[in-house]
Amino acid sequence: MSRTATEALRALPAVDALLNTDAAAHLAGQYGRQATVDALRTALDTTRVRIRAGDSASTDAASILQEAAAALARRFRPTLQPVINATGVIIHTNLGRAPLSTAAQNAVREIAAQYNTLEFDLEGGKRGSRLIHAGELLCEVTGAEAALVVNNNAAGLVLTLSALAQDREVIISRGQLVEIGGGFRVPDVMTQSGALLVEVGTTNRTRAADYEQAISERTALILRAHASNFRIIGFTESASLDELASIARRHGLYLMDDLGSGALLDTAAFGLDHEPTVQESLAAGADLVAFSGDKLLGGPQAGILAGKKDLIDRLRRHPLARAIRADKLCLAALTATLDHYRRGEALEQIPVWRMIARPLDDIRRAAEAWAAQVGGEVIDGESAVGGGSLPGATLPTALLALTVPRPDDFLAQLRAADPPVIARIAADRVLFDPRTVLEGQEGVLLHILGNLVSSA
Ligand SMILES: *Cc1c(COP(=O)(O)O)cnc(C)c1O
Repeated sequence: MSRTATEALRALPAVDALLNTDAAAHLAGQYGRQATVDALRTALDTTRVRIRAGDSASTDAASILQEAAAALARRFRPTLQPVINATGVIIHTNLGRAPLSTAAQNAVREIAAQYNTLEFDLEGGKRGSRLIHAGELLCEVTGAEAALVVNNNAAGLVLTLSALAQDREVIISRGQLVEIGGGFRVPDVMTQSGALLVEVGTTNRTRAADYEQAISERTALILRAHASNFRIIGFTESASLDELASIARRHGLYLMDDLGSGALLDTAAFGLDHEPTVQESLAAGADLVAFSGDKLLGGPQAGILAGKKDLIDRLRRHPLARAIRADKLCLAALTATLDHYRRGEALEQIPVWRMIARPLDDIRRAAEAWAAQVGGEVIDGESAVGGGSLPGATLPTALLALTVPRPDDFLAQLRAADPPVIARIAADRVLFDPRTVLEGQEGVLLHILGNLVSSA
């Protein structure tokens, strides 16, 4: 070892000396004393290794404290953290689907912090049922006789098929045996629940008669599943829900409709295709409708089953219902979300609907203001609804397009920002869609962009 290295090692501060600095006191206040001591030791160790290897740069106390601070920040950063979604995909499954309305956030905070009536009947002063929460409100806004909330839609499907079709046959069109994402395949879910799958029709065409011919004495129900994230175009045919309902009635079978997204409002009012609504499915004669809470409903993760009271009662009594029940925070957020529909204020209050309904002019003004501040140009583009609803459907939007030397590196820097920013690249430019950037995130987004652009 060289003399300078020996001297540098000897000159290193002791852990105790580092701990006595204001910077270390601040770290200990933020992360706890033990974690701070550990981080300082590690930083000292790596500094020693560097010095022995002949690198004597940045070995002063300030550098070691800085290294420890960075390591602590990395270690304490939760894996689940907020991000800014500038992708323009409104219901982005990888980014947590629907952000909650202000009222839903407040409801979660209130119920989380206090004891509550989760399973308590205030009138009788005795044990109540958690299964009643959100139930009446769901009936009010969907027109269903009864409703049940479970952990998510996939769980709702497993529960329904287990309760109503175990060891019996379920008829489904080949065009609807889809994989929804994350490896979730409708046929696998059906098999899990012990239902026997009877596929009818072909990938592109299934007629009402195909269902009718497949009915046997072992048939329990007819399932219609939303094709979700893909679309068959061209020479296609499928049976309408009305036709399926009349077949089901004639043969004494149940008809279940897995809507996936579960819109309560008409997407066609915003230039999109018409996404079938929960109300329409029930009115067309579906005995049970299943949908997610965090797709077009715009609420928390949940699976909602709505339909005939006798069926919902059977589902409630099934042992699986206990295993996949919704928690109090979900029920609080869901109730507050549904309340917006009851009050006729969903378009204004529910973030995903506000984004869908946001006028193009307004988005363009935002993109232009961004460009004025950080550079780049405003181009026409498309936002997507996402979340397996309206496959392929887009909304016209205005995008901020930044031309930077290395777009992939720029995206990585955006992801490393605090908070991380998720954007996309097209034609070598980095694109930002104001539609999915929430109010209150704009300032910090522009601050991050301004810093990165000036150092790019
Ligand atoms: C999204 C989706 C599901 C799964 O819903 P989760 O709430 O994510 O479990 C099931 N069926 C269809 C048609 C879907 O689009």
